[in-house]
Amino acid sequence: MNSTKFSLKQQMIKAAMSASASGLSPGRSGNMSVRHENGFFITPSGLAFEELCEEAIVFVDDNGKTGQNDLLPSSEWRFHLDIYKHFPETGGIVHCHSRHATALACANREIPPFHYMVAVAGGTKIPLAPYALFGTQELSDHVVAALDGTRAALLAHHGQIAIGRDLPAALELAYEVEELAAQYVLACSLGPVELLSGEQMQEVVKRFATYGRQDRAS
Ligand code: 13P
Ligand code: ZN
Repeated sequence: MNSTKFSLKQQMIKAAMSASASGLSPGRSGNMSVRHENGFFITPSGLAFEELCEEAIVFVDDNGKTGQNDLLPSSEWRFHLDIYKHFPETGGIVHCHSRHATALACANREIPPFHYMVAVAGGTKIPLAPYALFGTQELSDHVVAALDGTRAALLAHHGQIAIGRDLPAALELAYEVEELAAQYVLACSLGPVELLSGEQMQEVVKRFATYGRQDRAS
């Protein structure tokens, strides 16, 4: 196995262990992938993240074809494939059923701009993709549409999805989305939650473009 392949698979195992140990992705739920050459590596269908090993990781090419001896890829390989096609800057994807994000998604609620950190996904809210059966092209179409202008979305009656330039970035964002969802649910339990204005959120989006850069050149 060449070294890029090896390190990408190791990166997936590390991310899967983290998502499993932290409870981000309970049971056998969730899937993740990383772009590679003319396709992507993806977790197999129905395997708990803590059981992931290199041999179990599946390669899916641009046409949706897997290797002959590979396990079955995640049932959600379609939305992984379509995301890589539609968003060329995406290098990694995490889908999970994290508790608070899923609770909001089951109430058909998006995450509105209640906190400035909602802009962490690049938009002014974390949108909600409409419900469709898992593993379907219909769900994939909803997911791609919801991710237009943002790197994260809730999936109605299902969970959440986060994308990034690589897998660690996508995983970090999935954790952020879960934390924001928990904060929003908690804030809602205190009474009506006031939202930041469109103008205030645009300001944050702009500030985030350079936030945390340590190069001091600007
Ligand atoms: P897979 O194990 O097939 O990836 O399914 C888990 C899931 O979360 C489906 O949406
Ligand atoms: Zn799912």
